[in-house]
Amino acid sequence: MSHDPSIVIIGAGIGGIGAAIKLREAGFHDLTILEKSHDFGGTWLDNTYPGAACDVPAHLYTLSFEPNPDWTETFAGQPEILAHVQATAAKHRLADITRFGCEIAAAVWDHDATEWTLTTTEGDEFRADVVISGLGQLNRPSIPPIPGLADFAGTTFHSARWNHDHDLAGRRVAVIGTGASAVQFVPEIAPEVAHLDLYQRSANWVMPRENPPIDEKRRRRYRRVPGARRLRRLAIYLQFEVVMNQVFNTGSVVNRKATQEAEKYLAEAVPDPALRAVLTPDYPIGCTRILAHSDWYPTLQRDDVEVVTTGIREVVPDGIVTEDGGHHPADTIIFGTGFATTDFLAPIDFIGRDGISIRRRWAHGAEAHLGVTVADFPNLFMLYGPNTNLGHNSIIFMIEQQIRHIVGLLEEMRDEGIVAIDIHRHVQDRFNRRIQQRMNKRVWVTSCSSWYKNEAGKVVNNWPGSTVDYWWKCRRRVDLADYDTVRATRD
Ligand code: NAP
Repeated sequence: MSHDPSIVIIGAGIGGIGAAIKLREAGFHDLTILEKSHDFGGTWLDNTYPGAACDVPAHLYTLSFEPNPDWTETFAGQPEILAHVQATAAKHRLADITRFGCEIAAAVWDHDATEWTLTTTEGDEFRADVVISGLGQLNRPSIPPIPGLADFAGTTFHSARWNHDHDLAGRRVAVIGTGASAVQFVPEIAPEVAHLDLYQRSANWVMPRENPPIDEKRRRRYRRVPGARRLRRLAIYLQFEVVMNQVFNTGSVVNRKATQEAEKYLAEAVPDPALRAVLTPDYPIGCTRILAHSDWYPTLQRDDVEVVTTGIREVVPDGIVTEDGGHHPADTIIFGTGFATTDFLAPIDFIGRDGISIRRRWAHGAEAHLGVTVADFPNLFMLYGPNTNLGHNSIIFMIEQQIRHIVGLLEEMRDEGIVAIDIHRHVQDRFNRRIQQRMNKRVWVTSCSSWYKNEAGKVVNNWPGSTVDYWWKCRRRVDLADYDTVRATRD
């Protein structure tokens, strides 16, 4: 590899931005970011629905090397997060190396030339020695193929593609889905609409969430005494790591305690036993994401809100017909139905060594080494790849470890004159056997349907250990014996 290999980063979200900053710091300057959207921000650019916010406290949900002493709320809202992400990109002048409106359709590895060729949906080509994917896990909205949807006479949209031109005042709205997005936007829109039917397929475990503001006095202290801000961040991190992480161990004391707390909250918040029964999950707490919102249960008890639990049979031009034949009039359908999460890179037609496609390789479930490298796909590195999602802590922490691991690999390549690096299949397989064994103790493998599992029921999204464990694994010095390498030939 040349001293300064050409590196393409796909995606200008927090991962892509963080990677560009750290690569430059390490002396890699031939960087290009390719972004399908029109600006920086990734998921925070896409998700503009009313009430969009992060349920991880803002001081932890920030790149450690780009802190923000000025967060105004404990749980920051989308506009504030997006502003900080975009300010970070501006501070590092990343627009100079970014091509917006550039969606990659295919990427092909040439082992003789040791380079990737990326082709956009417009047919433009980019060549790069190294490709880093910052696509993440939650970027492709999923809309279920409900019969009759195409004939609906009203307006439909997905929570991650909010139609701000569509005034909801006085509308009859159907919301399908009751996940982490719906729990945030339903309380915001319910007071505005004439009537809201909420289609719930599975009940969720919900905890109350207060959102104390961070006053100017405290912000000033964080600005003047960075140690105070760092201490706050550490306190949040440790609480999540030490206590919250235990919730996800099947049958643990903390899991039982969390169940009791959630049940108590439900009992207090929803006096009507019939509605309470409808809102009681039939699977262990933590199997799906635990929702945190204090306005959710009160909203579901409004006179103009109805929780519909009968399955949807079809959409008709003026509403929704349920399995029992009931006709529910609607002029707007909002899909809070989540994302296509288990394909990872597969939307891009990645072709690695010997013509192997990522889609074929991952036909039975996506796998990677540390969630970052995939055997037979040299010089391809992923951020927030398979088995790196969390239930208990900030995903940005995981992304930072991946960035460090990738920079470490590239530095090793540069130092050793290596032009291609490819994780050995047996190393990747051993890693994945171990994480799936550990997964069996985690609550995600139990009886719920969730976006963490693929169609075969295998958990392909979540990391089964602690973040300390992941940090340790990524921190280890790169062992080149784990990789197949190609060295530069000298003239
Ligand atoms: P989600 O958690 O995957 O929820 C999708 C919802 O749609 C579920 O209630 C699901 O029901 C329902 N659904 C899917 N297909 C359906 C169908 N055919 N018919 C009826 N219902 C259907 O999606 P999300 O709420 O967009 O959240 C996705 C993830 O984004 C979260 O888990 C979280 O990681 C992230 N997020 C984070 C925050 C944050 O504050 N940090 C906020 C929003 C989102 P079932 O449960 O029965 O499958």
